[in-house]
Amino acid sequence: MYYGFDMGGTKIELGVFDENLQRIWQKRVPTPREDYSQLLATLRDLTHEADAFCGRRGSVGIGIPGLPNDDDGTLFTANVPAAMGQPLPRDLAELIGREVRVDNDANCFALSEAWDDEFRRYPTVLGIILGTGVGGGLIVNGKTLTGRNYIAGEFGHFRLPVDALEVLGRDIPRVACGCGHQGCIENYISGRGFEWMYAHFYGRHLPATQIIAHYQAGEPQAAAHVERFMAVLAICLGNLLTILDPHLVVIGGGLSNFDAIYRELPQRLPAHLLRVARPPRIEKARYGDAGGVRGAAFLNLVRPS
Ligand SMILES: [Zn+2]
Repeated sequence: MYYGFDMGGTKIELGVFDENLQRIWQKRVPTPREDYSQLLATLRDLTHEADAFCGRRGSVGIGIPGLPNDDDGTLFTANVPAAMGQPLPRDLAELIGREVRVDNDANCFALSEAWDDEFRRYPTVLGIILGTGVGGGLIVNGKTLTGRNYIAGEFGHFRLPVDALEVLGRDIPRVACGCGHQGCIENYISGRGFEWMYAHFYGRHLPATQIIAHYQAGEPQAAAHVERFMAVLAICLGNLLTILDPHLVVIGGGLSNFDAIYRELPQRLPAHLLRVARPPRIEKARYGDAGGVRGAAFLNLVRPS
């Protein structure tokens, strides 16, 4: 049995998965935000409840909105103050008598998709979240590539490529990013960026859903906006693919529901790749909000060789 905890700023969700990777039990409780010992006790009690349900002890994985620090075993979790700077994996492991694996929630999203029945045959899977920001992760043979700092896959924070400046105009504002830099691609190709670009070029702030509805109705301004957006998205993704060359790209987050993406990217990508490169398969994420607990649970899976 595989237990996955999705530890968010307001709730902790536990999903229990059987050997066929089907969810057989789940529970959701509020996150003890400020009290570390209470947070540990909550995770311990949920684990024991799951053990009682399963009649045996499952493995434990936790997805966090933040970064584990491998050097000292502590967590960086701004949205869960109780866990901030705490050696939670070690402390919890002691309490429940088993190893505790932790990864960031974007990597868990990618891992969840990579273990889909159909997708798991791909050796490398790139998960990209186009939501409020842009995040993601790279899965290699069923495992997350965490890198030195668990930020492998934080593509949102590389800066606009020069090709994108040709599309957007060299005077496009270098938007100040939450990370402290300017011109990070997440400010242009996220859902928020999609709306910002529309407002920048047309002077009107509209929600993405409304811009997309205008596009689908054939409205010329929205069509020109989507053309520009897809061009920039293909350029940014083309750079990623040239570095990572994944077999499959899975797109999640709010903008992943914009079906034009799956029509446009395959046509546009070849122009931004090496000539010998075959573009990867590009798919919409299949697990939505359930991806967090799935991916956390699957931190303990090993791909058969
Ligand atoms: Zn940034």
